[in-house]
Amino acid sequence: MALSFTCSASISTQHQARVNFKSNKGLEDVRNLIKTVGVPSITCSPVKSLQNGNWVKLICGASFEDVVDIRNLSLVYTLAGVDCIDCAADVSVVNAVNEGIDAAIEILPLRRPWVMISVNDDEDLHFRKAEFDPEDCPLDCSKPCERVCPADAISLEAQNSTTQLSFHTNAPGAFKGGVLTERCYGCGRCIPVCPYDKIRVTSYIREAATTSELLKRNDVDAVEIHTTGRQIAPFKELWDGLADSIKYLRLAAVSLPDIGEATVSSMKDMYSVMEPDLCCFNLWQLDGRPMSGDIGRGATRESIAFALRLAAIKDRPHGLYI
Ligand code: SF4
Ligand code: SF4
Repeated sequence: MALSFTCSASISTQHQARVNFKSNKGLEDVRNLIKTVGVPSITCSPVKSLQNGNWVKLICGASFEDVVDIRNLSLVYTLAGVDCIDCAADVSVVNAVNEGIDAAIEILPLRRPWVMISVNDDEDLHFRKAEFDPEDCPLDCSKPCERVCPADAISLEAQNSTTQLSFHTNAPGAFKGGVLTERCYGCGRCIPVCPYDKIRVTSYIREAATTSELLKRNDVDAVEIHTTGRQIAPFKELWDGLADSIKYLRLAAVSLPDIGEATVSSMKDMYSVMEPDLCCFNLWQLDGRPMSGDIGRGATRESIAFALRLAAIKDRPHGLYI
């Protein structure tokens, strides 16, 4: 089975709603709001949405791990009728997504969106975290990193300059705080704005074995594999590591950027790797560039140009219908 489209609609975590699950009042407020404003009735299954070309996915972020926000987002966007919620391949995050979906369904008996987890086969912008030592930051820095972060993932406060000495600098006072790791989704905006070049990034690759166990859960429906598309070996290694869990899925998505002339042959090679294990739908998520729609100008134009180029190809990779 194959279903493919050139892009997925996404709603960024910047537009967040905060609901306090600990207090019944938070949920009661949502219930009352739904009664007042209503929600559109959802008649379309996620598969039907894919076939109709109007599939909507909430992207929590492959690295975003703030479980409270993720749970709240999942509640709100399930009520809004999204077809899929994409999140980090992490047990706590997956639990948070499902708690949000369950809470939404308790409010209204809606159909469940699919839960998709994101993994990578190589270094990828989606899988990295910023870090710096706040005690190394000059106290007169105007903290542009904090202002530019779209996820409120940087929090800095000056320690009392007269009563505390910084251990590292032996200078009076220092910043405390820094990057809130679970909120950082690796967008990289903070790096170029630091006037003192203090911010580093750490990239990571999700473990196939852990991901495979998550995919076997009955509350996980789909996987998104982020790949550079430039080398088949790491893709094959990851796929082989996931292969025995693919049969539990409804959808296996592959996300790759435009790599020019090699794009189509790379997609064909990847499909050959996947085909023996594919008993679910497959989806190509073709961004013009990684983190498209988030970083940098012109990302949408690049994505559309990419789609048009692929649409013009006669010998298309399996499952590419535009
Ligand atoms: S990379 Fe920097 S700007 Fe982006 S989310 Fe992380 S801390 Fe914030
Ligand atoms: S901009 Fe750089 S030096 Fe200034 S507070 Fe942020 S990380 Fe520290």
